[in-house]
Amino acid sequence: MKPLPEKIKVGGRIYDVIVENNPDMIIDDKTAGFHNPRRLTITVMSPEFVHPLKQREILLHEIIHAVAHVGAIDISEDAVRGLANILFGVFQNNDISCLSEKYEREVIS
Ligand SMILES: [Zn+2]
Repeated sequence: MKPLPEKIKVGGRIYDVIVENNPDMIIDDKTAGFHNPRRLTITVMSPEFVHPLKQREILLHEIIHAVAHVGAIDISEDAVRGLANILFGVFQNNDISCLSEKYEREVIS
């Protein structure tokens, strides 16, 4: 399984991805990740505490929070949860790595 990225760019902001090893950071059964827009951090629990696939779903969940924040989109926790669940399935079941390709400007001379 690929390691998590160390940084994720959302709009013009670059978030640090932090893998948390402190189990006290788990607030409840549903919360194992955090998005901090002031510190530009996305924190997910270590695979020691959550299944690696669940960890990735949590990462996507927090990215959606970051997208909403950067885009000034008012979105409920339920909507974030629903989008993360569905999009995680889309990413898991389809090869859409073409979306990760960077645009390259063609030089016309
Ligand atoms: Zn959330």
